[in-house]
Amino acid sequence: MGERAGVTILGSTGSIGGSTLDVLARHSDRFEVVALTANRDVDRMLAQCLEHRPRLAVMREERAAERLAEGLAGAGLKTEVLHGTEGLCHAATLPEIAHVMAAIVGAAGLAPTLAAARAGKRVLLANKEALVMSGALFMEEVRRHGAELLPIDSEHNAIFQCMPPGFARGLDAVGVEEILLTGSGGPFRQTPLEQLRDVTPEQAVAHPNWNMGAKISVDSATMMNKGLEIIEACWLFGTGPERIQVVVHPQSVVHSLVRYVDGSVLAQMGNPDMRTPIAHALAWPERMAAGVEPLDLMAVARLDFEAPDERRFPCLRLAREAMQAGGTATAILNAANEVAVARFLEGRLRFTDIARVIETVMEERPFGAADRLEAVLEADRLAREAAERVARRLEVR
Ligand code: NAD
Ligand code: MG
Repeated sequence: MGERAGVTILGSTGSIGGSTLDVLARHSDRFEVVALTANRDVDRMLAQCLEHRPRLAVMREERAAERLAEGLAGAGLKTEVLHGTEGLCHAATLPEIAHVMAAIVGAAGLAPTLAAARAGKRVLLANKEALVMSGALFMEEVRRHGAELLPIDSEHNAIFQCMPPGFARGLDAVGVEEILLTGSGGPFRQTPLEQLRDVTPEQAVAHPNWNMGAKISVDSATMMNKGLEIIEACWLFGTGPERIQVVVHPQSVVHSLVRYVDGSVLAQMGNPDMRTPIAHALAWPERMAAGVEPLDLMAVARLDFEAPDERRFPCLRLAREAMQAGGTATAILNAANEVAVARFLEGRLRFTDIARVIETVMEERPFGAADRLEAVLEADRLAREAAERVARRLEVR
């Protein structure tokens, strides 16, 4: 038996992090969990350390790291504990790891994910916000340092599986005409428009098909998730947004499709379970079991497809416009969205005002070049300030 591949999970206590540990535990002969990281969920991290015995655990918050160290010592574990962004970047670049699962939610994931790319690791990318913020820079670092970038987002993983070899040369060179990006339409696909204003965080987070973290669940309800995914697909597959069509598909069984010049359309299908793309990316180019129920087509019975309603989902248009504008526009879009979603989850902003906050910030903030990380981070910071201001004006009282 060969040596086991070392793995770091950035964001191990989240939804993707938990699914990744589930897949890894099924293949402990092939993979070794070396480092786990989280924001501040000490109890969950302690339980994960007891079960998976990583060499290193990182908490972003210092106080949480102290409490974790106490808990680990109490349990007799010798796991090393670090904290802060430095600790996260250290975990992402350890010499003994081959794979980094990038599953931190939001802009907070950018620095450690970029560090993993610079260290030439295989980056399993769930943290779409990193690409949305700094796609050009990120792809350049991947190329320069010989890293491997494998998409975990179910649609992008599906597209990757449907693409021909050599697609990095450009879609025209390999006979691909168009990418069809599917999305369920979220919990409010059929809610009367006049009721959208009063939907609650609980209703927004209850996704019909996928069990995910709170932020991406709200993004799915506004379809900003699909907007961010258009941008993500542009960078991953080297194309403009005009060659990416969004298709609403309520069953979430067809995870996305690729249309070729000869009329062929290839789709990847399966049950909505993130362990499929996770296992695919870990094992690639091989295949391995993921613990996923086999797809029962008779039980699914029918597959529906419809065009997205841009009046119901203005975030789709905002994302396309940001990608077309280029530069820091997508970082500004992402920052405004993160602020608005956080406010909505706190009960301080109406659901329909999420798009309003983003659109206002996009109008207010000038776009610049996104050729340096400092420029991207500065655009992110200023857009957050602007979004806080706009959200305060619209605050629910
Ligand atoms: P989640 O909220 O369940 O978990 C997020 C993880 O990131 C947690 O471990 C948390 O501790 C950590 N974290 C949060 N803020 C942090 C910070 N400031 N610094 C360091 N760590 C921090 O989220 P999730 O649903 O697992 O999603 C993770 C990422 O994967 C997101 O970018 C999301 O868009 C993407 N994604 C998720 C799914 C899914 O099915 N859940 C599908 C596709 C893509
Ligand atoms: Mg997705």
